[in-house]
Amino acid sequence: MFSNNNRENNLFHTIHVIILNSNNHRQTIDMKSTIYVFLLSLIFLLSPNLSSLGSEVIITNSIRLPNDSIKVNKLITSLESFLDQKDEANTNNSFVNKDYLLETSLLLDELKGIDKSTNFNDDNFYKCYLSSVSKTTENQYTVQFSYIGVNGTIPVLRGVFTVIATSIGDEFLFHSPLSLNTSSWTRKNIGKSIVYYKPEFDISIADSYLNYASKFDNIIGINDKPTVLYCANNFNEVMKLIGVDYKLDFSGINFNSSSGVERDTTIIVNGVLASNAIQFDPHDLWHSRLRAVLAPKDTYKPVDEGCAFLFGGSWGYSWEDIKNRFHSFVKTQKDRNWLNSYVEHLDIGDEKGKSLRVDYIINALIIKELYKDGDFSKVKQLLSIGRDQPNLDVYFDTLDEVIGINEKNFNVEIDRLIVKYVE
Ligand SMILES: [Zn+2]
Repeated sequence: MFSNNNRENNLFHTIHVIILNSNNHRQTIDMKSTIYVFLLSLIFLLSPNLSSLGSEVIITNSIRLPNDSIKVNKLITSLESFLDQKDEANTNNSFVNKDYLLETSLLLDELKGIDKSTNFNDDNFYKCYLSSVSKTTENQYTVQFSYIGVNGTIPVLRGVFTVIATSIGDEFLFHSPLSLNTSSWTRKNIGKSIVYYKPEFDISIADSYLNYASKFDNIIGINDKPTVLYCANNFNEVMKLIGVDYKLDFSGINFNSSSGVERDTTIIVNGVLASNAIQFDPHDLWHSRLRAVLAPKDTYKPVDEGCAFLFGGSWGYSWEDIKNRFHSFVKTQKDRNWLNSYVEHLDIGDEKGKSLRVDYIINALIIKELYKDGDFSKVKQLLSIGRDQPNLDVYFDTLDEVIGINEKNFNVEIDRLIVKYVE
């Protein structure tokens, strides 16, 4: 929290990096005293009593603030309150401009735990520094702030963020700059969803993406929610659009997306669909939709891959393509020992970088049989046996329970499924 006049005599607050002068106006301080006060703060922040002090925004004299100091003071106080609540549920943050809750959720998710350092084992390692405040309209400011930690004499930059601050009554409310940053984009309604994109984007890709997303949600049993989809060129652009100008955690990540759900609407800022470098692959979308109901540590990968093969294909191959390739392989097999092929993770892919593992294909066939009446519960049971399987005991026990296939009858039963679905 921003220290106020009543607390000025309190020992803790005299060392706050925000310094108030006698007129209760915020003053800037030079870097030397910042570091001095910062070190003092660090000592005090190690005391558990001080963790309740909350967020402070450090202002150095290197930045030029707008002239209206009363307004700027209110803005910084509000920003500290906004940051104070960043780790709570996004919808409970009383300093979020609720007209923009959906996109601000994405930004808040990136701010959660931003002050903590596991490397330095310090929950208050990174401090918030104001980078710039610029007035955009009578009641609106663009605010940029950074989280920086100091290790000895080496500063470590964790992140740089931009928010829009709107003056409402006696305080400021904050939101992500996403809609401002995309104000020139085209908007199109597709079914229950809204898609935002740049003119050069091929909208049929978004169409296909939303179709697959809805199909997968249906299979998994997730309620079909309206989606607001933004199609960016890469992950760097995704982050910049939502107000994350830089984040240490993401250096080197080229293609990824940011998504969240608030008030029964899903928002996705996708950094793959509009990329020229890689193509949308429904296979990957399967994995990401399943994550909504099953954590990676609970998911048995060969069955997850089997689902992705069956429902989304792989490496640009459709399930029909995979099946045909598998059929050609089966024809070359005399002893048809599927248990061996399964255990050995036999790969029948014949194109560079496009492996097609037989254990995944066998699971796809099992899933096809389990899901033939449209009931996903048994597939989910098989999916949920956990990521770490030191041997196949739990897999075969569960397989026996849901479909009557076990280690002993594996070759015969898989052969039966091959005859039914492949040959
Ligand atoms: Zn996969």
